[in-house]
Amino acid sequence: MPTILNADLHCHSVVSDGTLTPEDLAARAAANGVELWALTDHDEIGGQERAAAAARAQGIKYLTGTEISVTFAGETVHIVGLGFDPRDAAITQGLYDTRGGRGKRAQEMADQLAQVGIPGAYEGALTFVGNPELISRTHFARFLVEKGYCKDTYEVFRRYLTEGKPGFVPHRWASLKDAVRWITEAQGIAVIAHPGRYKFTANEEHALFTEFQAHGGRGVEVVTGSHSPAEYVEYAEKAIEYGLAASRGSDFHSPDESHCDLGKLPPLPGNLTPVWEILEHRIQ
Ligand code: AMP
Ligand code: MN
Ligand code: MN
Ligand code: MN
Repeated sequence: MPTILNADLHCHSVVSDGTLTPEDLAARAAANGVELWALTDHDEIGGQERAAAAARAQGIKYLTGTEISVTFAGETVHIVGLGFDPRDAAITQGLYDTRGGRGKRAQEMADQLAQVGIPGAYEGALTFVGNPELISRTHFARFLVEKGYCKDTYEVFRRYLTEGKPGFVPHRWASLKDAVRWITEAQGIAVIAHPGRYKFTANEEHALFTEFQAHGGRGVEVVTGSHSPAEYVEYAEKAIEYGLAASRGSDFHSPDESHCDLGKLPPLPGNLTPVWEILEHRIQ
């Protein structure tokens, strides 16, 4: 597989906080010229069989995927897993446990919102949920837009649901070590998702990259819908500095919300090793 490939290895379906089904995503990916695709629902692999079958029906290649919520240095970090065996018992159980605290967290988020004059947020968010085990901040954001509190989900995350704002509930997710282990022991590779989004100091970021590698992590997202063009350059350099393979993915959630559509990203810089090179044997 060449470095210049229309691979999109990061997006979300109704199985987590996207608005399209795995089948509709596969069709959209194919229509947009995606050649290699992965569905990476948050803390979930329940959509993997449908996504792989839909990719086959559309004539595009597929890698299994997920995006695991991790707590590192007091912050939430996302680790993408690619090419793992979705029938593996340890990753299945690990993700089940990671999803476990979401219901209680959501109730607490709603309690906070009620205190600032926004009633009914739990029930309201639930009307947007496709998977009862996976209620997320995105579903609350859609409720706040629907009720006219904000004009779009971007405004929601500026005014609510984030650190220091109403509706933010700190949460302990999986450990970095466990997330990387679940993925690699199921024959996949672990990738640091959108590193440009974390509010880490240089020292903390260095700790993330070195500990991630010490646990067996192999890749980093370089070209993602969550990075600016300057961050493509910054993390291309980091990939080389740390000897990590590079990934590319839109982080597409919804036609109505996402700025970056499936497959509509610049190519990876040609001097990087793409993750699909080390995952050749796992491509379906
Ligand atoms: P959760 O896993 O419940 O914490 O929800 C996280 C999801 O909320 C992310 O995957 C994004 O889809 C969305 N999100 C979080 N922070 C932001 C932000 N600052 N801007 C836009 N979307 C965000
Ligand atoms: Mn999301
Ligand atoms: Mn993410
Ligand atoms: Mn994502």
